Amino acid sequence: MKNKTILNAGEVALVGSGPGDAELLTLRALHFIQQAEVVIYDRLVSNDILELLPINSEKIYVGKEQAKHCVPQDQINQLLVEHAKRGKKVLRLKGGDPFVFGRGGEEAEELLKNGVNCHLCPGVTAASGCTTYAGIPLTHRGVALGCTFVTGHMQNDNQLNLPWESLVAKTQTVVFYMGINTLPSITEKLIEYGRDDETPVALIQSGTKDNQKTYRGTLSNIAEIAAINNVLPPTLIVVGEVVNQLTDKPLAKAGYLQAESTNLQSGNTTNLLKNARQHEQKQAVNDVVEVV
Ligand code: SAH
Repeated sequence: MKNKTILNAGEVALVGSGPGDAELLTLRALHFIQQAEVVIYDRLVSNDILELLPINSEKIYVGKEQAKHCVPQDQINQLLVEHAKRGKKVLRLKGGDPFVFGRGGEEAEELLKNGVNCHLCPGVTAASGCTTYAGIPLTHRGVALGCTFVTGHMQNDNQLNLPWESLVAKTQTVVFYMGINTLPSITEKLIEYGRDDETPVALIQSGTKDNQKTYRGTLSNIAEIAAINNVLPPTLIVVGEVVNQLTDKPLAKAGYLQAESTNLQSGNTTNLLKNARQHEQKQAVNDVVEVV
């Protein structure tokens, strides 16, 4: 396959690395990673992905944990511009997708304002990666007709200013990013605005990584489940009937749904093989007949 992805000196590639599992990287992301001279990355970029960075590249960690940003956003913007102006090939690597609660738009604006070219590369966003690895389809025919991504992060006035009326339809999946610390307020508001308190809810912690954990409950008890289990960020909250669509049992492992045991596994293998062989023999006879 031809590599169309060329990162020139003095340019920035704004790249989403997905939610953690390095196998969810896009090929375009990998191509940018391989060319990087300076890498500016966040807390959510997994170690498996950091291992793919060129050994000689300069790696700058700019943190970013909810409410305690390691490096303020304007300084991150400045770093990007400075390194690009020094003629470096700069990789701005972010968890998930840069344009989904990732401030990628702000960084791109700043780069363009300063005359720096910027490549854009999407990543698998947490809502997609984590739910899939937890065995939860975001939409499902007849069950969830739509899906909304919202932030559960308090605004400056310490309020969750969300359009609650639009989040309570039974056929809608709602995914909250950055919401684990405000989970009690989220569940309270959804119930107050009319969502059934028995609506299934999943918390997916460290989604797609080896230590992924999924907790299932309902709007009425999930905050307590989170408190008892000390569920910490990064955690995604998924509200809606789809949570129990495929399974109400824990997955064998993240991203792997185990089928019910079938004849093949329960001792009837010999019969099945015998049938298959008989079928093959009949087929061979038929083939001969046709040729004749
Ligand atoms: N741009 C990112 C989101 C950044 S906001 C994306 O597209 O995925 C950070 C929030 O995303 C976290 O608080 C958490 O709610 C969610 N998140 C990101 N990665 C996650 C992961 N591996 N597991 C669970 N939640 C994750």
